Amino acid sequence: MALKTAEEYMDSLRKLNLDVYLFGEKVDNWVDHPVIRPSINAIAMTYKVAHEPETEALATTTSILTGKKTNRFTSLFASTDDLVKKVKLQRLLGQRTGCCFQRCVGMDAINAVFSTTYEIDEKWGTKYHRRFTEWVKYVQEDDLCIQGAMTDAKGDRGLSPSGQPDPDMYVHVVERQSGGIVIRGAKANQTGAVNSHEMLVMPTLRMREEDKDYAVTCALPTDAPGVHFVYGRQSCDKRKLEGGDIDVGNYMFGGQEALTVLDDVFVPWDRVFMCGEFEFSSMMVERFAGYHRQSYGGCKPGIGDVIIGATASMAEYNGVPKAAHIRDKIAEMNHLVETLHACGLASSTEGWKTAAGNYQADILLANVCKQNVTRFPYELCRLAEDIAGGAVVTLPSEKDLRHPVIGKYIEKYFKGVAGVPTEDRMRMLTLIHCMSFGLTAPSYRTESMHGAGSPQAQRVMIERQTDMEHKKRLARRLAGIDKREDVTS
Ligand code: SF4
Ligand code: FE
Repeated sequence: MALKTAEEYMDSLRKLNLDVYLFGEKVDNWVDHPVIRPSINAIAMTYKVAHEPETEALATTTSILTGKKTNRFTSLFASTDDLVKKVKLQRLLGQRTGCCFQRCVGMDAINAVFSTTYEIDEKWGTKYHRRFTEWVKYVQEDDLCIQGAMTDAKGDRGLSPSGQPDPDMYVHVVERQSGGIVIRGAKANQTGAVNSHEMLVMPTLRMREEDKDYAVTCALPTDAPGVHFVYGRQSCDKRKLEGGDIDVGNYMFGGQEALTVLDDVFVPWDRVFMCGEFEFSSMMVERFAGYHRQSYGGCKPGIGDVIIGATASMAEYNGVPKAAHIRDKIAEMNHLVETLHACGLASSTEGWKTAAGNYQADILLANVCKQNVTRFPYELCRLAEDIAGGAVVTLPSEKDLRHPVIGKYIEKYFKGVAGVPTEDRMRMLTLIHCMSFGLTAPSYRTESMHGAGSPQAQRVMIERQTDMEHKKRLARRLAGIDKREDVTS
């Protein structure tokens, strides 16, 4: 099968029989629901760019499994160049959609599971890697969208999976049958879950022997019996139900997160890729997190580019583009965005080949990248709000602008410089509002804080990945505590 077009992707979603709930109601036609549709449009862009002559080289690659052309979002990374292209593609898509386009989680999960299953098989003589390779071929062949399902509900964060009073706080195996396993639990904050064909379930943290039943990795269709989705709210989401498009800001695109409930879901053995090998769960989690924290050096600068463009436009609409402090603040915004991207690129070029043959992004630099992402988007939003003005949060509605009696007042008093229609100024303000407060990723800020792991998770990894003894030796030698280096010998 050829690579799907955006339309074919949307048509393929209509064939799924998903159990989706939103605002306390079951949604049958979720593909056309005005709250959900922008998030589908955002993923559809990952399909569209694979067919455009100018973006095709970035958006597609050759499968190392089949030798056929594949969408980069279903590919295994065959080189550091592939890792670089991934980050560049993500920046491009962030620029085109201004939001989270959701498909990266599956791509990153595929690569982490590919390399980890190889090493599990090497140690235990299991058959996970071959099974997984067959599943990836199927995903590539049908150009599927994959939900990378890692984050568990977690319950009491101070307790291990097996130590929870409620055993379902982490997804676990409840039954082993001759034909497969039965799993139960929930995956929380699942990016693009409702827009995916399949989900790839993985453990969310390091496990010990008593957590064996929680060390499970498997694939299942998103409409498998027992799977339920509860759509996550976004700030101002009901603006999408009001009929107009100005108040929504980024009307066409948006992010998506959902709670995925797995209520005794059967998974056949040929779709099980880890079942009890608890000592490998940290490898899988760290590799996945490494890839996804690298990814944030692509999407976040791409979305940041749009925020900078909107901010610079507002400075023009307000008549102050040449003010020294405005130019300085916009220079700072560009500095922040390029620093994020530089980190993503650095972790790509420093990537390394795994025993399975695909490439892993450098884990230390990926964590540094994500740590910056927990801070810089906040500063970008702060500067955007500073320059755009308080109207970001006080603007009247589109209905007021269109009102036969009071519309003329909105038109008159929300005008900036001559030559720029009031409506354009309102559109730019609501774009900044939606990108800063919600509806995009689902929020550029909070998603940057917690997506791909909260800040402390990166601190732990940075500490673990740093060779402190080496650094101390460097200092001791120069201080003369250890023998000094003789430059002449
Ligand atoms: Fe992709 Fe960024 Fe969304 Fe993660 S947050 S899925 S990297 S766009
Ligand atoms: Fe994310």
